[in-house]
Amino acid sequence: DEIARTTYGFVGADLGALVREAAMDALRRVLPDINLREGIPSEVLEKLTVSQDDFMSAMKRIQPSALREIMIQAPNVRWDDVGGLDEAQMKLKEGVELPLRAPQSFKRMGIRPAKGFLLFGPPGTGKTLLAKAVAREAEANFVATKSSDLLSKWYGESEQQVSRLFERARQVAPTVIFIDEIDSLAPARGGGLGEPAVTERVVNTLLAEMDGLEDMQGVVVMAATNRPNLLDPALLRPGRFDELVYVPVPDKKARLKILGIHTKKMPLAKDIDLDELAEQTVRFTGADLEDLTRRAGLIALRRSLDASDVTKGDFSKALQEVRPSVTPEMEQEYEEMLRTLRQES
Ligand code: ADP
Repeated sequence: DEIARTTYGFVGADLGALVREAAMDALRRVLPDINLREGIPSEVLEKLTVSQDDFMSAMKRIQPSALREIMIQAPNVRWDDVGGLDEAQMKLKEGVELPLRAPQSFKRMGIRPAKGFLLFGPPGTGKTLLAKAVAREAEANFVATKSSDLLSKWYGESEQQVSRLFERARQVAPTVIFIDEIDSLAPARGGGLGEPAVTERVVNTLLAEMDGLEDMQGVVVMAATNRPNLLDPALLRPGRFDELVYVPVPDKKARLKILGIHTKKMPLAKDIDLDELAEQTVRFTGADLEDLTRRAGLIALRRSLDASDVTKGDFSKALQEVRPSVTPEMEQEYEEMLRTLRQES
């Protein structure tokens, strides 16, 4: 169980290699000059036990494949695929898309584009979607990672991973780097995932890399969090994540747009009124609305595999299955966080 928990990023082949390495360590303990070609005496094999320590020491030598290669993505999300979030979209178009598309114009005006953008808001409100759209619309590459990927404690190479990420991003610039769950890089305070020492080293490396990004190098860092109040304050200083972008729960107008986006390819019966549906889905996030339309489609198919469209009745049934993932208290908390963060910066 512990081994399973500490092998984050391991694919099947890595686990196979881990078991072999652990068994070899156990063998070496009893038979220091082991020669596999000569075979292993059966009395030795019978007494052999592989211990937890063998696994733990083997773990340090195996690099999980998932982290070995930094994946460059070319997302195909466009601004039109993002419903609502007008303010966030405007801020990102100006702050990320323009500098990446027209660095010369910024240079001519003698202004420095922001290096880091921190997106915050409840889960499922479109933070990842926004980051992908920015990259796509700026015709930039997209490199995404999660803080938990950077903090595998047996891996012990977290800082190198951060540096590699930036190196790759510069190589293929223009690039948008997206770091999800950035709050996991908070020191102690119960929010962090890794050992405090590892976390601190990762934050320092991240900050050093961001400080080292010269203007107009075509690399922009975007990070997302659901819990900005847990963030390491060092990350918010000027020249780092100096732009805060609030990604709120959609209001009715935004919900209508999001419903429109997710029903674009769905044959809707004439009795369906998306406006009314938007009215009925208070505090649904974009992800909740997507879930709702998918379920309505499934209900239609359950009615009949030959169903020609999705009806109001299907949506009514789906509405009984999906709850809004945001509570009024949560919404209020985010508004308060926004006020505090704006005061601090
Ligand atoms: P977050 O990163 O904020 O947790 P995501 O961007 O991963 O949320 O959203 C998950 C999915 O929910 C998206 O892939 C998209 O299908 C849908 N979604 C969320 N917000 C929106 C939105 N504003 N407009 C359209 N779809 C959305």
